[in-house]
Amino acid sequence: MIALVHLIWQPLGPAPFEAFLSSLERFEAGADYRLVLAFNGFSEPSELDDYRSLVRGNDVEEIVLQKPQLDISAYRLAAQMLDDEQLCFMNSHSTVVAESWLGLLSSALELPSVKLAGGSGSWGSHRSFMLNRLGLPNAYRHQLGSRQTVSSAFSSASSPGSEPTLFGRLASVPGELVGFNGFPAPHVRTNAFLVDRDFFLSLEFGELDTKRATHRLESGENSFSTQILRTGSTVAVVGRNGPVLDWRRWPEANVFWQGDQQDLLISDNQTRAYDRANLTQRASMSAFAWGEMASPSEPSRAAGGTSRVVGRGEASLGGTSFTGKCNNCSSSLIHAFMVGDLNRRIGTEQFQYLKCQGCETYSLNNVPSDLALYYPESYYELPEASLLPVLASNEAHKIEMIAPWQSGGRMVEVGPGAGVFSYCAKQAGFEVTAVEMDERTCHYMKSSVGVEAVQGDDPASELRQIGSLSVVALWHVIEHLRDPWGFIDAAAESLEPGGVLALSAPNPESVQFRLLGSRWAHVDAPRHLFLIPLSAIAERASRSGLRLVHSTTGDPSGRHWNRFGWEMAMRGDRRAGPSGRLVGAASLGAAVAMRPLEGTALRGAAYSAIFVKESELG
Ligand SMILES: [Zn+2]
Repeated sequence: MIALVHLIWQPLGPAPFEAFLSSLERFEAGADYRLVLAFNGFSEPSELDDYRSLVRGNDVEEIVLQKPQLDISAYRLAAQMLDDEQLCFMNSHSTVVAESWLGLLSSALELPSVKLAGGSGSWGSHRSFMLNRLGLPNAYRHQLGSRQTVSSAFSSASSPGSEPTLFGRLASVPGELVGFNGFPAPHVRTNAFLVDRDFFLSLEFGELDTKRATHRLESGENSFSTQILRTGSTVAVVGRNGPVLDWRRWPEANVFWQGDQQDLLISDNQTRAYDRANLTQRASMSAFAWGEMASPSEPSRAAGGTSRVVGRGEASLGGTSFTGKCNNCSSSLIHAFMVGDLNRRIGTEQFQYLKCQGCETYSLNNVPSDLALYYPESYYELPEASLLPVLASNEAHKIEMIAPWQSGGRMVEVGPGAGVFSYCAKQAGFEVTAVEMDERTCHYMKSSVGVEAVQGDDPASELRQIGSLSVVALWHVIEHLRDPWGFIDAAAESLEPGGVLALSAPNPESVQFRLLGSRWAHVDAPRHLFLIPLSAIAERASRSGLRLVHSTTGDPSGRHWNRFGWEMAMRGDRRAGPSGRLVGAASLGAAVAMRPLEGTALRGAAYSAIFVKESELG
């Protein structure tokens, strides 16, 4: 028989106990147990009456602890008083939230290697977290989000009227540096777990006089979990789909501070804090628990967030349901990373990028409704017309790249920026129309560059209206479009046979992205809605008769973007003006050193590509 030992901490009053009891009535346990109530912090016997009146049924044992105890020492005292073979401990905050919760824990403990079966676990490290707050080197590096985000996650994780929760306590305790391992520090959380009585009492407890000492037993360098893992046995985290035995795979279970916690069996104040948190706060909490494996999803709007069942990566977008399928190839999308606006620091929101499991395109999930706010005035810097001939030399190689296939005719450039390429194309004999959403830029294109301009924010439909084109060009624009796939289709329709689609874009298959991850400057959240591998563009283009005839990451603009990427990676504040000499020299050094690697096999930071529309008979 299993004894379910539930702690009742007097200062919390009867409400949590009532919630615990009603959760037991609501969900089948899936295994036999008897209930043991461990009253903790009660000084008058009459104080127990309020609690006793809530209990229905006879088979309930009571333990009254003589003086107030911390949770883990209360567990130990209870274990010494009971002779049941197995004990399931639950603290005062815990409530059951799934069917068969005890059956699942019990079948995990039956496995020969499993010494302790927990309702949740985490890799979170007090030590690395503290180092992070102190600005010292630590395994979390930039994953926890901005200081404001972390603080707001703290206040979300501290529920009013109760003892400060994990984050609240950590905020002010440099002592967490001692006795704790760095991230990842895998441990079963002690709010709810099942264990053999004799084995539990054989564990080392050490001094249990302070709260911090009990934290060490939960997640420190001599925690229950660490003691067990050291012997070659294991601790299991148990979710609705059963136990996860290998701690390296715990993040795959959406149990604690991951996904929408949809696999959770037993909730507590920490998991409920995550239920209440917004996506940005969740990102910070999830990164604390799982580092780079963090995969938070948008809070569900339904009451009782933990009851919703959502697959990994199926986040919701602004309240509407997100289908979790790629708009290009219909494969599933999975969480890739979270990141803020690192380049321009507009706002503190965190953005979630998903990765398509088919075409490997990255896409921004939570596109801000006020995206225009992320394009400051300085984004559209327009040079004086007299400078255009000087600047033109930077763009000449693009005309040369198109020249083998088209040397004249009607050209549309989408998103002309400062207009230098349009200027070059006009000088080279093309009849140029710019398609641009910014009104001031349109005016400038007509008056200073001397080409046609169409203002609009749906370039696919603008292309179709113009039609019969020799060239469609877009340089570092496709990653900003809301529907890049529809745009490629429209370009194919609008080109005459033999016509050229010329584009460049950040390269998610680059060395830089592999090394720098979400910190890569070309992620440029939230302005870059997509990071598309060239192979995905080529595949899409080929469906509508556009054949890839040339691609490179080693052209002059590709080399420029390589250096730009390294320079931004080395700068503290990316908004600052031209970087100092030291960073400038170091990034040039990095760019030169990496050239053999970035210059080959399309591994540079940005690719340029030429597609030719095949004639229908070809
Ligand atoms: Zn795809």
